[in-house]
Amino acid sequence: MNCQGIITKGIGGFYYIQANEGIYECKARGIFRKNNISPLAGDYCEIQVLPDFKGNIEKIMPRKNFFVRPPIANIDCMFIVFSVATPSPVPELVDKLSVIALKQNTTPYIIINKTDLSSEDSVDYSDVYIKAGFKVFCVSAITSEGVDELIDFMQGKISVFTGCSGVGKSSILNCILPDRELKTGNVSEKIGRGKHTTREVELIPVNGGYIGDSPGFSSLEISGITAIELQQYFPEFEKYIGSCRFRGCSHVNEPDCSIKNAVASGLIAKSRYDSYTLLYNQLKEIKEWDK
Ligand code: GDP
Ligand code: ZN
Repeated sequence: MNCQGIITKGIGGFYYIQANEGIYECKARGIFRKNNISPLAGDYCEIQVLPDFKGNIEKIMPRKNFFVRPPIANIDCMFIVFSVATPSPVPELVDKLSVIALKQNTTPYIIINKTDLSSEDSVDYSDVYIKAGFKVFCVSAITSEGVDELIDFMQGKISVFTGCSGVGKSSILNCILPDRELKTGNVSEKIGRGKHTTREVELIPVNGGYIGDSPGFSSLEISGITAIELQQYFPEFEKYIGSCRFRGCSHVNEPDCSIKNAVASGLIAKSRYDSYTLLYNQLKEIKEWDK
């Protein structure tokens, strides 16, 4: 007999697959190894059912997206968290992560956390991102404000959290999953910690969906995008592209640029445009380097 399910974690060659009937402990068929495919948390699979809730993974369904580091597939929502208190917001990091999400065919959402400490700043930042076309959640992990709305939104989806150390990702997860104490730390302790923590991802059930628990999402880098393609990943640029004086305008140094005009008249947020030029110049350098 075969059945279908989703991999919630993989440990030491075993994959734990949630199906309607329960959780199956499965091995992957040799064929996957031969074809260099590793099953990932988030993969939808067909399994051959063996006695005692054991099984073999027969087939991995096509993926909507996947990350290698951290290893996870089929992410629906990438929540990019930043704090309006300490650590202070780093718009270029938020904007870089949103580019990575869009490039990976997953939707970025913004969480503004620590609103209990600075409500005015949270309004300003939320304007920036709403104007840019993102859905924004204002949250406080201390008072739990906004957390129910977040849980409602996660219904039936695979979500992950990303953002700088100290912004409150673990604290928000603890609010969402009170039965599962994750370690939170004070900000200064956390910043000193190694950036590239490698750990298996575990999908934790929440509201008919899952949260992918991995600290590795904070250190993602942009890949597979050239400097000139970057503009496609700033959704609010779209309606201006094509109206610049020069065809193929990079919106950085050219005169009569519709994007720069939109920034000057406040239609595009300055911080978003600054992130764009910063990332544009970084991507350009990488390209020069590769030549
Ligand atoms: P992470 O590194 O993103 O997982 O951040 P943590 O969840 O460990 O939080 C870092 C620090 O910020 C901890 O001392 C938390 O208690 C504090 N913190 C997290 N969320 C909030 C919040 O909404 N309001 C306030 N005042 N403090 C928070
Ligand atoms: Zn332009």
